[in-house]
Amino acid sequence: MTAPKEKRFPLSLSSVVERKESGGRGLGTASASTQTAMQNLGRDASGLSRPHPVSAWNPVKEQKTPVVNTNESPLVSEAVRRAMVARIAQQGVKDPIVLEAMRAVPRHLFLDSGLESQAYIDASLPIGHHQTISQPYIVARMLEILRQGAKLDNVLEIGTGCGYQAAVLSLIATDVYSIERIKALHELAKNNLRPMRIANIRLHYGDGMLGMPQVAPFDGIILAAAGMEVPQALLMQLKVGGRLIAPVGGRNQVLQLVERLSDVEWKSSVVENCHFVPLHSGVI
Ligand code: SAH
Repeated sequence: MTAPKEKRFPLSLSSVVERKESGGRGLGTASASTQTAMQNLGRDASGLSRPHPVSAWNPVKEQKTPVVNTNESPLVSEAVRRAMVARIAQQGVKDPIVLEAMRAVPRHLFLDSGLESQAYIDASLPIGHHQTISQPYIVARMLEILRQGAKLDNVLEIGTGCGYQAAVLSLIATDVYSIERIKALHELAKNNLRPMRIANIRLHYGDGMLGMPQVAPFDGIILAAAGMEVPQALLMQLKVGGRLIAPVGGRNQVLQLVERLSDVEWKSSVVENCHFVPLHSGVI
């Protein structure tokens, strides 16, 4: 068990906790249907006019982006990120801590410069090696479900990819461990996250299906790739009272929530349909 840390990733969560999510009105109609980027693009701009707390996110140096001044570029600006969060809220994600974390992480910094202008549409996008950065809505949805359990002292992510979700997780959990099986992506995530100086993420190169027994058990486990079933090792590495959220299936996938009820009991429920890249064993 890890003691809660005083010093965390530099987002002022106090500003979040007190905030009532004004986008919460009429959110009861959670949509599980697949959204296309263009639908979302055309939809809502209401989030733009809402007052938001000033961000404390301050990436040390936005080395990757060729954009001269990120804050002034209309394609990757704070306003565009807020609009993305407003769309996520419209789709039913209500947790203000999760929404604020989504607002705070600059997703464009995890993408190739050629894709930066698409960073805040609600779509998965290629990150190389036949893998994708997850769709913002599904990241938010999974984190909201994870947060409905016990306090998140430690969370394990399977499938680091470019590191985006790990960065969001770092704002809602005390310690984040993330495993990636493709060496090149593990390196990419390291490079993406380094300038952000996030103190509570540990990246590991390895087969996530085996989990991390050396630091288990976990309050939360989140899989960013779909297997035909949840790997047994991960079920065993969940704390009693902990939650695991994972896409499960082949062509047709569902988001599955597993709660560990006791040493020998797990409860599983289906949340909604989803679409993820496949979970593979071994490393490359
Ligand atoms: N978390 C990412 C999503 C990455 S896509 C984001 O922030 O958007 C899913 C990732 O899971 C891919 O990079 C893929 O290589 C990885 N993956 C698949 N099977 C894995 C395994 N057994 N262990 C670790 N990573 C795995």
